Amino acid sequence: MAQYTLMTPGPVPAPQKVLEILGLPMEHHRTPEFVTVLGRTLQNLKKFFQTEQDVFIHTSTGSGAMESAIVNVLSPGDAVLCVVTGKFGERWADMAEAYGANVTRLEVPWGRVVDIRAIESHLHAHPETKAVLTQGCETSTGVLHPIREIAKLTAQSHALLLVDGITALGAMPMPMDEWGIDVLIGGSQKAFMLPTGLSFISLSAKAWRAAETATMPRFYFDLRRERDANRGGESYFSSAVTHVRALDWVLQSCLEIGIDKLYRRIQGLSLATQEAVRIMGLEIFSEVPSPSVTAIAVPDGIDGQKLRGNIEKIDHVVMMGGQDQLKGKILRMGNMGAISDRDLVHTLRSIAAGLNRAQANPDHHISEAKIDEACARALEILSSSPELFATPATTEVSL
Ligand SMILES: *Cc1c(COP(=O)(O)O)cnc(C)c1O
Repeated sequence: MAQYTLMTPGPVPAPQKVLEILGLPMEHHRTPEFVTVLGRTLQNLKKFFQTEQDVFIHTSTGSGAMESAIVNVLSPGDAVLCVVTGKFGERWADMAEAYGANVTRLEVPWGRVVDIRAIESHLHAHPETKAVLTQGCETSTGVLHPIREIAKLTAQSHALLLVDGITALGAMPMPMDEWGIDVLIGGSQKAFMLPTGLSFISLSAKAWRAAETATMPRFYFDLRRERDANRGGESYFSSAVTHVRALDWVLQSCLEIGIDKLYRRIQGLSLATQEAVRIMGLEIFSEVPSPSVTAIAVPDGIDGQKLRGNIEKIDHVVMMGGQDQLKGKILRMGNMGAISDRDLVHTLRSIAAGLNRAQANPDHHISEAKIDEACARALEILSSSPELFATPATTEVSL
């Protein structure tokens, strides 16, 4: 038996109550009781999207909703601009290409934020651009993108703005209607604190107009079919009953507590981590850090892959490393989900201890005094954004 503190940017620690709901007896998705749950869940999701439009649930991981966005509003040969600033930007560009879109990649060095002037000049030079595809937060680098500013550009053009908000929606305000986002996507295992397996998507009126004439092949993800079924109170295919029941509880709880408090907690964990690691002499990797994910630069001369594995093995704290060109160079921590103050302090101490074990020269060690100062500062910051959900302190895993 090993016990882990889950600090990854998805999946995230689920509240205790979610785990209990997931263990309830099965019920059929066409029962009147479940139809009520589904209806309420779809209505409450709209409050997170801040939209008057319908929101849909797909039984798929987040990438399924990315694919749904492409097949519902685009046609083969459409010119699309993909903002590529990391792994997830690459994924969306690859996906659009696989479906035959005419993809231009706006490559941004990993860790940097996209310059909206580059998007502006591209739209100017290529008025035929059908869509701009971007992440709200590029989870592989921890960078937050200026969605509101990008939306101002697409609103004045014929292009749609498709936002993969999987580590943004539910973690920070992302008002779809007010900002003018045309397609917005979320995923269950990130800010929504559930297991992996559901994704969420909504289309603006402009995106629906495109959906009516788009010619990409689509069947499972055809939102026209889903829209008709939802209007009759049902999902077109079988609903993931257990996940939806747990989602219903999460949404209702967050709305009762106040979504602002949820955002503030995530922001609090982000700021607490940023300040604490700076006190310990480390740097934040991202040019514009997202509240949902914190990427810490691993000091030169230390192998981040080994460090991550060592922290997981010795202190049972699970974080993510960097991928591809960032392999071994960063540690990534999620700030979403039922993370307790204690979890954060334990993680900060385990990072310091791991670095000290990896650092041969004792003169370069992080002192106990600095570690204490960093943790005290983190707790001080967190005192203005208290824990919202009871969580099993650690996750039990049978090995
Ligand atoms: C997690 C994530 C996804 C989706 O990943 P899945 O494994 O398909 O759920 C997509 N985009 C971003 C930005 C993510 O963080």
